[in-house]
Amino acid sequence: MLNDKDRIFTNLYGFQDWRLAGARKRGDWDGTGAILAKGRDGIINEMKASGLRGRGGAGFPTGLKWSFMPKDIGERPHYLVVNADEGEPGTCKDRDMMRFDPHKLIEGCLIAGFAMGAHVAYIYIRGEFFREAEHLEFAIAEAREAGLLGPNACGSGWDMEVYVHRGAGAYICGEETALIQSLEGKKGQPRLKPPFPAGVGLYGCPTTVNNVESIAVAPTILRRGGAWFAGLGRENNTGTKVFCISGHVNKPCNVEEEMGIPLRELIDKHAGGVRGGWDNLLGVIPGGASVPVLPRELCDDVLMDFDSLKAVKSGLGTAAVMVMDKSTDIVRAIARLSAFYTHESCGQCTPCREGTGWLSRVMTRLVNGDAAIEEIDVLEQVTRQIEGHTICALGDAAAWPIQGLIRHFRPEIERRIIEKRGGRSVAAE
Ligand code: SF4
Repeated sequence: MLNDKDRIFTNLYGFQDWRLAGARKRGDWDGTGAILAKGRDGIINEMKASGLRGRGGAGFPTGLKWSFMPKDIGERPHYLVVNADEGEPGTCKDRDMMRFDPHKLIEGCLIAGFAMGAHVAYIYIRGEFFREAEHLEFAIAEAREAGLLGPNACGSGWDMEVYVHRGAGAYICGEETALIQSLEGKKGQPRLKPPFPAGVGLYGCPTTVNNVESIAVAPTILRRGGAWFAGLGRENNTGTKVFCISGHVNKPCNVEEEMGIPLRELIDKHAGGVRGGWDNLLGVIPGGASVPVLPRELCDDVLMDFDSLKAVKSGLGTAAVMVMDKSTDIVRAIARLSAFYTHESCGQCTPCREGTGWLSRVMTRLVNGDAAIEEIDVLEQVTRQIEGHTICALGDAAAWPIQGLIRHFRPEIERRIIEKRGGRSVAAE
């Protein structure tokens, strides 16, 4: 269990003042000028040493990502874009960081922006996060007033501006290239990669898009050292992580813990345990709606980090832990996710546009057993045709939960079909 002194988000529940005075008491903006004095390479090397992997879901090493920005600033401006769209079902960590600890993110914008040669950062925030956008705007104004942002930020000689841009409610705008399109005032649809944003991003200029948590933890890492962060968690899965625990638990919560904490310990110690006890657990979606569900038997010992969850064919994703007890209609739950992806597909590429609708229609029939047994295999094959054949990862995200359902709960799908047919276990007629 994470020691209190190693906690980065010390105001995650909003019990303390989120404004500049309170943030400073908690250590934010302490020695920021000295951090900037390490220089661009010094900061990036420290981030690499920390082992921090992107907290938005993909888990790409953050320091390495920053190093992809051109060294020479040249004629084209560089941009930092913070992805605060947070539309992944079950995920509400960035919301609370921005609401209760906005200065961590703003200080992170200055440091990350400086490290990648950007004088401007845009925070693209989910439109529904009205109060969070207000807090950010207020905190940015406070920081500017105190000389921490703006011209010669923190006396570093570096000019830095941070702007908040509110989205309009499309899940797909959480995909980095769709987010860039939206920021440019265009329809929020993903772009083909390459070119990657570090070469051709916002307004055709070098851009790095990072999740809120990835940027917000950077100042603490740089103050305490990459080795401190790397000493927490497990190899290749270092540091702390904010988990969002929801569903059939006694006390749903956001909590910062060490990477690699056992799932059972996470739920028992922080969320008051599964409703009705651990034996009443049916399964857990461990990383937001886009990753496959794990059945109870895999939940007993699994560790909560990128590699451990990948080893059981799921994923850490956004670390949104959705707990389902035995009262859950698991087929209906996954069918609901299918409907979500159908609705949120931007329609740009055929496998996703047509495929997600097809998956959703079949899933709807499976809820009531209105299908033939053979269709389960066809459904699985169609998810394979979508996976990896689309412009962005939404197609994969639509496919994976269904693959997990079939892998772990196939008998439950078959039972419904057989019962609907009056007990006859026949294939297509
Ligand atoms: Fe749009 Fe779906 Fe293609 Fe992504 S995979 S670009 S959401 S149609």
